[in-house]
Amino acid sequence: MFVSCRRYIPLIFVFVAWSIATGLGQTVRAADEVPAPPVKHEPVKHEPLRHSQSNGWHVAESRNFRFHHHSQTTLVARLAVLCEDSRTAIRQRWLSTSGTANWSIKCDVYLYPTPAEYQQKTRFPADSWGFADLEIGNGKVWMRKLDLRSDNEARVINVAVHELTHVILADRFAHRQIPRWADEGIALNSEPATRQKDMRGWLAAEIKQGRGFTLHQLLSMQHYPQNKHLGDLFYAQSGSLVEFLLSQNSDSEEGVMRFVESSQRGLDKPLSGITLAKLESEWKAWLLNSQSGSEGGVQLAADRP
Ligand SMILES: [Zn+2]
Repeated sequence: MFVSCRRYIPLIFVFVAWSIATGLGQTVRAADEVPAPPVKHEPVKHEPLRHSQSNGWHVAESRNFRFHHHSQTTLVARLAVLCEDSRTAIRQRWLSTSGTANWSIKCDVYLYPTPAEYQQKTRFPADSWGFADLEIGNGKVWMRKLDLRSDNEARVINVAVHELTHVILADRFAHRQIPRWADEGIALNSEPATRQKDMRGWLAAEIKQGRGFTLHQLLSMQHYPQNKHLGDLFYAQSGSLVEFLLSQNSDSEEGVMRFVESSQRGLDKPLSGITLAKLESEWKAWLLNSQSGSEGGVQLAADRP
């Protein structure tokens, strides 16, 4: 029997909540940064977009994406290059997939030029920025879709890469849905390094105050916290844990993937050779050490909605 799993992955917390004081990234010592691994990939051949009309939308198709928009041709052209390039890079980095084989089912990308239209068509809050929608089952992804607000070009670029990471990870987790923490942690890792530094700094201050989830709670979480502060903690801890695992694994991304798959089989036995209690202790020490000397420079903007 076919089993489908439909996922709605909102970016409500990440891009609403994480409005950080400008210049903050410079307060974190360069020596403490965890550098993003180099991403090597074959150059993507960009073919001209194929244009058509459908159900009141302008449609522009690239090799793996179908963009539905309202005359935002310049933005679509930029997004098409970004999405195709990012797809290849993220697949090679996290799925060890070489080559540029096309998806048999393209990813539909809907661009809403106003928050009002986004809310009306998706039923998601107008102050969120986008989400990925997937159907998986029997080891296959049957539907890929991104719904994005397109009223802020810089933001839609960041949101698209984050959401695209969710779509790509589904290829490896098409039998069983990837754990929430890993899905978000890896997606955050695809974002600009400055955002990760901002989150790391805020999280370190929270952990010092005794707040935060235990790793057992974090790794067991089936649903997004509805409380805003807990949501912030969930995203920040997920991103930080992925960063930590990347820094610890000699085989890096593949090691993180094996850890994630090991966690799906249960949390009672050591994961990748380490108990959760020991991992939590080592992760906290790493997090707090990475932030020593940066106190006072980390704060959330007071005006976040
Ligand atoms: Zn996400």
